[in-house]
Amino acid sequence: MPSKRKLIVGNWKVNPDSAAEAKRIIKETKKAVASLKRTDVVACPPYVYSNLVLSAKSKTPLELGVQNVWTEPRGSFTGEIGAPMLRDIGVSWVIIGHSERRAMGETDEQVAKKSFEVIEAGMNAIVCVGEKVHDAQGAYLDPLKEQIRNSLSKISKKSVKQLVIAYEPVWAIGAKDAMDPAVVQEMTIFIKKVLSDIYGQDEASSVRILYGGSANFRNAPEIITKGGVDGLLVGRESVNPSGFAEMLKVVDAL
Ligand code: PEP
Repeated sequence: MPSKRKLIVGNWKVNPDSAAEAKRIIKETKKAVASLKRTDVVACPPYVYSNLVLSAKSKTPLELGVQNVWTEPRGSFTGEIGAPMLRDIGVSWVIIGHSERRAMGETDEQVAKKSFEVIEAGMNAIVCVGEKVHDAQGAYLDPLKEQIRNSLSKISKKSVKQLVIAYEPVWAIGAKDAMDPAVVQEMTIFIKKVLSDIYGQDEASSVRILYGGSANFRNAPEIITKGGVDGLLVGRESVNPSGFAEMLKVVDAL
């Protein structure tokens, strides 16, 4: 199989405070994306800035993602947003089941439903999974397997081409240091095995696996090469345009 294109997804969370600053980040990011050859880049700003990604003058292929979606496509769910609406305005990627949303009460069942709706609407689902504690005895492995199986329970074999897994050990998000790349590699192998048990080896091998948790331009190359992942889900560094541009450059050169 030809090697997969790398994928870098920026999760802006609830940043920045102003549209002017969002425009600046988008402009700088697009400039960096313009020279990439082997890397796909997705920006997931807060919903209110979506249009700024789409309307930015440069035709550079910075793809638009969002950080959440509702479990139902439409109806009486005040304050929520349905997958077909996102697709209609030009969103191609949706982060689902981020640990910060799971901490607010989002369940595997909701993650599964959201993933189904995203794929049904024709977008790509970035399904986040990860353990809260990484103990030396490996007690996290079975619960992680269950989390993956339950979160993907509504994604069929024929839809896996629209699936990306973001492995994010919860304790490494917003932390000082990322996970040791050698441990990322162990976890990548584990996740591939779980995917292969669900979908079969051929389909599973087409799913891109990202690492997320305190990635920056310095540690990104080692996490990708030693960790065996296809890219990164990036929080803080994605709203720091100079660091993010450098990250894209070093990752594309791998
Ligand atoms: C995240 O929130 O998905 C994330 C990886 O954040 P950070 O890169 O800031 O750790």
